[in-house]
Amino acid sequence: MFAARRFATRAPAAAHWNALSLARPTFLRGYATAGDVSSLVIVEHKDGQIAPSTLNALSAAAKLGGQVHALVAGSSSDAVADQVAKLAPVSKVLVASDAAYDHGLPEVHAPLIVAAQKAGSYSHVVVAHSAFGKNVLPRAAALLDVAQVSDITGVESADTFVRPFYAGNAIATVKSNDAVKLLTVRSTAFPAAGAQDAAAAKEAAPTAETSTTTQWIKEEIAKSDRPDLANARVVISGGRALKSSENFELLYTLADKVGGAVGASRAAVDAGYVDNSLQIGQTGKIVAPELYVAIGISGAIQHLAGMKDSKVIVAINKDGEAPIFQIADYGLVGDLFKIVPELTEKV
Ligand SMILES: Cc1cc2nc3c(=O)[nH]c(=O)nc-3n(C[C@H](O)[C@H](O)[C@H](O)COP(=O)(O)OP(=O)(O)OC[C@H]3O[C@@H](n4cnc5c(N)ncnc54)[C@H](O)[C@@H]3O)c2cc1C
Repeated sequence: MFAARRFATRAPAAAHWNALSLARPTFLRGYATAGDVSSLVIVEHKDGQIAPSTLNALSAAAKLGGQVHALVAGSSSDAVADQVAKLAPVSKVLVASDAAYDHGLPEVHAPLIVAAQKAGSYSHVVVAHSAFGKNVLPRAAALLDVAQVSDITGVESADTFVRPFYAGNAIATVKSNDAVKLLTVRSTAFPAAGAQDAAAAKEAAPTAETSTTTQWIKEEIAKSDRPDLANARVVISGGRALKSSENFELLYTLADKVGGAVGASRAAVDAGYVDNSLQIGQTGKIVAPELYVAIGISGAIQHLAGMKDSKVIVAINKDGEAPIFQIADYGLVGDLFKIVPELTEKV
């Protein structure tokens, strides 16, 4: 075992591109100033539980300054709104109690977001960069005729945001001149919002068009007793080297011993070893656990894009030259089929 050298930055090739303007005709639109900043955060929830990524979106909204209001929609929105009202920095919760909003259809959520934005004259609309946020916000941006700023990892000011691109190999500082700024937030880049003492006020959200030709049919969700990949403290991740779904059992056993979640590279997913809900990377999930163990994963940039912000990275690979070692804090060079059972026995 060796302690791998950690680069000063985990994205050595990162370039900072300043003032990439999403400029639109400024004579038509005003600029937000610190004085008139107010944000509407779209709350994602399911089965009465607020999605953890919404807590990160709330913290991003807090960094913008000004009032932060939250919008909760769906048939269980009253109960969820009670929870949201107790979160800092929320000062008001808008509630749209209507079953039409239950399945996150963008066709019905976008008109509601637009109606709420117009009624409250919010300068910013903020949502997590989750499947829900990525689905809903572009439609709202189109209705408002503004350019969305996606996947932000930093807030420099009310109109200037940091966001990665090229799979995290370049970082852009983006200034938006739109009067209303629509932002999706990378949850691993912001802390989770905490509780506040006094609950915020609740009020009914403005009504909006809910009829659509799109119909929600059903969803199939992979059930697991293990922690959710996006929020797990420990992630044990496997690559092509596992060679079969049966061999992934080695990783499940280790994960269960340490209370972790199992992830995978795209090569392992494409080979059918695991479900694609486990994929980590540019086209999968982005995680930042306390401990990420990459087993038989080479470390392609598209994979690193999903895990390089993990606090401690351990790599197990038989090739000592594998790129994953360049970002690993600890490396084990050897055959995973020998190392993983030994490790599982010892932890
Ligand atoms: C547009 C685009 C998007 C992509 N998105 C993603 C993404 O989201 N996530 C993602 O992961 N990839 C993504 N990829 C694919 C990515 O480029 C790589 O092909 C992929 O990550 C490789 O997966 P891997 O490391 O498991 O396999 P490989 O690159 O084949 O690496 C296998 C590793 O296992 C090691 N090994 C082999 N046998 C053993 C053993 N017995 N013990 C220990 N080590 C062993 C080898 O040394 C090697 O380093 C994307 C590609 C493109 C073009």
